[in-house]
Amino acid sequence: MWRLAGTSVLRHLETLGWNPVRHPDRASGRMGDMSEIDGMGTERATCVLAPNPSAMTLDGTNTWIIGEPGAEEVVVVDPGPKDGKHLRRVADLVAGQGRRVGLVLLTHGHPDHSAGAAKFAELAGGGKGGGVKVRALDPAHRLGDEGLGEGDVVTTGGLELRIMETPGHSDDSLTFWLPADRAVLTGDTVLGYGTTVLEGKLGDYLSSLDRLRAFSADQDAAVILPGHGPKLDDPLAALDHYIDHRRERLAQVEAAVAAGARTAREVVEVVYADVDKSLWPAAEWSVQSQLDYLNERP
Ligand SMILES: [Zn+2]
Repeated sequence: MWRLAGTSVLRHLETLGWNPVRHPDRASGRMGDMSEIDGMGTERATCVLAPNPSAMTLDGTNTWIIGEPGAEEVVVVDPGPKDGKHLRRVADLVAGQGRRVGLVLLTHGHPDHSAGAAKFAELAGGGKGGGVKVRALDPAHRLGDEGLGEGDVVTTGGLELRIMETPGHSDDSLTFWLPADRAVLTGDTVLGYGTTVLEGKLGDYLSSLDRLRAFSADQDAAVILPGHGPKLDDPLAALDHYIDHRRERLAQVEAAVAAGARTAREVVEVVYADVDKSLWPAAEWSVQSQLDYLNERP
């Protein structure tokens, strides 16, 4: 039920043209500037930007090709939407390097990351079918019998990726740690700019952020490779910003409740007073998840 509700609200947000991801720092409209995103990465990871920009997907979905230098097999993370040209481009880039796709991984099941996965697996497998497997937390998005979850270590072509479950953006959101490059692939849990829309529970999301913050500090993470937007070269600053933003919003909601607001709508009327009313339904949904969190908090 929650998933259904979340999905319809996401669609609603899109209809509204709601841009919950835009951040004041980036409000100058760097969206659409794909030059800094397509081709970015680390020694082992390279971004191929999908041509699906929108308020929800920023510049488009970041597809990642990840491989050990000199290895024949690579991993592709989030093939992206079912866009034949994009999927073909990713497959051609891999083939052009004289390599092949050993495995496809999904950070989560949202269609802008997963809808092209089966088609891509087919393309990358030479159209023979049954070649390349797709691993994801949600069984609905897998191809083959292998899942993906907390503590899993994926080794393909000598590459090592460690898997963490980081629910919040969605219940099935994963984060991948690429130790050789000290890179954190966050999917939509942390984006290159702005903040992410939550389909899952706020409590889960806050725990995920705290965990990623502690993990990044502990491992001395060098870079965040997000599901949308540019890479972030200061992981701790980015995570602190995300955590602060959520806490600030929560404090505003708490204050509105303390001042007498009884419903999500009443909270919105106070906290979002300066925001266009067409966005209030979306804001109400966000506030409701914050109220749920505050009510469930011990
Ligand atoms: Zn996404």
